[in-house]
Amino acid sequence: MAVTELPPIPLPDGPGGTGSGAQGILRRQALRESAARTYARALPIVPVRARGLTIEGADGHRYLDCLSGAGTLALGHNHPVVLEAIRGVLDSGAPLQVLDLATPVKDAFTEELFSTLPPGLARHARVQFCGPAGTDAVEAALKLVRTATGRDGLLAFSGAYHGMTAGALAASGGAPSVSTTRLPFPYDYRCPFGVGGEYGAELSARWTERLVDDPKGGVGTPAGMILEPVQGEGGVIPAPDGWLRRMRDITAARSIPLIVDEVQTGVGRTGAFWAVQHSGVVPDVMVLSKAIGGSMPLAVVVYHEALDAWRPGAHAGTFRGNQLAMAAGAATLAYVRENRLAERAAALGERMLHRLRQLAERYPHIGDVRGRGLMIGLELVDPEAEQLAAEQLAAERPEAARPGSGRPGARPAAPMLAAAVQQECLQRGLIVELGGRHSAVIRLLPPLTITDEQAEAVLDRLADALDAAIRTAGAPGLGPGSGLGPGSERPPVASPFVGDHR
Ligand code: PMP
Repeated sequence: MAVTELPPIPLPDGPGGTGSGAQGILRRQALRESAARTYARALPIVPVRARGLTIEGADGHRYLDCLSGAGTLALGHNHPVVLEAIRGVLDSGAPLQVLDLATPVKDAFTEELFSTLPPGLARHARVQFCGPAGTDAVEAALKLVRTATGRDGLLAFSGAYHGMTAGALAASGGAPSVSTTRLPFPYDYRCPFGVGGEYGAELSARWTERLVDDPKGGVGTPAGMILEPVQGEGGVIPAPDGWLRRMRDITAARSIPLIVDEVQTGVGRTGAFWAVQHSGVVPDVMVLSKAIGGSMPLAVVVYHEALDAWRPGAHAGTFRGNQLAMAAGAATLAYVRENRLAERAAALGERMLHRLRQLAERYPHIGDVRGRGLMIGLELVDPEAEQLAAEQLAAERPEAARPGSGRPGARPAAPMLAAAVQQECLQRGLIVELGGRHSAVIRLLPPLTITDEQAEAVLDRLADALDAAIRTAGAPGLGPGSGLGPGSERPPVASPFVGDHR
C-alpha cells in the first residue's frame, strides 16, 4: 500500500511529558536519551511509516530519505520482496534465534552471498557470522588476521571509519594489543601531498611501500591492512582504482592480508555489486554489513580459507543467527543481482553527479563534487576564507604560502553551512547526511530503487536548500563564525570520528 493511502496514526501522550504526538515524543526523547545520540539531533522527526524513498513523520510530513538508514537500505524502506521474505520466515514457524546453528534460511543466504562474491574469493571463501553490527565484523576481521599471521600491527588510513568498538577489543581479556599505523588516503581535493590527482595517489602508495619496507620505519610487517574502497563517513572519497591495485600488490608481495571494508559500499551502492570489482582487486578479507541484512541487523566476514586458522569459539557471540535478517538479506541480494541495480546505480549516479557539477559552477561554496554510483558527496567550503587565509599565510610565512593544502584552490571546509543546508533540506522534505573531516560534506545515499523523477526531485530540493542556506548565511547568526564570512573562526563542531553521524 502506498504511503499516501494510509490513515493518520493517533499518537498517545506517553508518561514523562505533556505534549501529544510528535512534539511530545521528541521532548521525551530529549529528556531521556543519551547525550551521545546522533542522527536524532539533526533530524528531529518521528517516522511512523515508510515505503521506498519516502518516510512519513508522525506530524504527517513526508520526506525523501537519502540517508537510507546510513546506507543500509539498498531497496529503500519496506520493499515488497523484503517484507515477503520476513513474513515467509514468521509464517513458517522457524525459530528466530538459533545462535550459529545451520538452518535452511541461513543456507539460502550463504548460497546467495557466495554467488555474488568476486569469483577469485568465492572459490576459496569461508564466512564467519558475527554480532550484528558492522563494527562487530571489523573486530572479527582484525582478530582473524592477527591469529592467522601471528602478527599484531595494522595498517589503516587517514579519514577511515570502521566502527565504534576498538575500545571493546582492546579491553577484552586476552586480546592482543593493537597498534595501528595511519597512512595517507588519496583524498584528491585535500591531497596530503598538495598535488592531488594520479600523482597524489602514487605518492600515497609510495609512502606506504617505503614505510613497510623501512627496517627503521617503526612498522614492521603488520597483521593486515584495512581500507574502504570509497571512504564513506570520511567524506565520500573514492579510492582511485589504480591506487587500490597498488595496495593489493604491496600487501600481496609481503604476505599482508588485505581487508576491504565494504560495510557501506557493498550490494550495488557504488555501481558494482562490490566496490572492489571496479578495480578487479581480490581482497583476502571482506567485511560486510548494512545492506546485506535487507534493513535488519546482520554482519559477516568473508575471507580466504588459508586464513581460517582460528580455533572453535575464537570469535563467538549470541546474536549471530538472526533468521529474519538472513531472509531479508538474501531477498535483497537476489533482487539487486536480478534487476541489475548496480548498473542502474552507476548510470543514475553519473547523471546526478553531472547535475551537481553544474550546480557547483554556480556556487563557489561547493568546493568539490564526488562519488561513485549512488554514494555521492558535496564538500562545502568557505569561498572567501581562501583568499583571506592565503593572504594571512603569505604575510606570516612567505616560504609556506604555496599550494599545500590539497588540490590547488582547495578551500577551508564550511561545517556551519553544511549544517544549515541539512536543515533547509529537512524543511523541504529531504533527508541528507553529513560527513567528512569537518562534517562539511553533504552526503546522498538514496536507495538503488530511486526513480529518475525522484532523483530530480531530490536534486531540486537540494539546490533550493543550498541557495536558501547561502542567502541566509548573510543574516545574523550565520555570518562571522559560520565558516562563511571573512574573519570567521571555525566553529566548534563535533568530530565526525567520535560519535556523530554514524
Ligand atoms: N565500516 C564502515 C565503512 C562504515 O561506514 C560503518 C558505519 N557507518 C561501519 C564500518 C560500522 O558499522 P556499524 O555502525 O554497523 O557498527
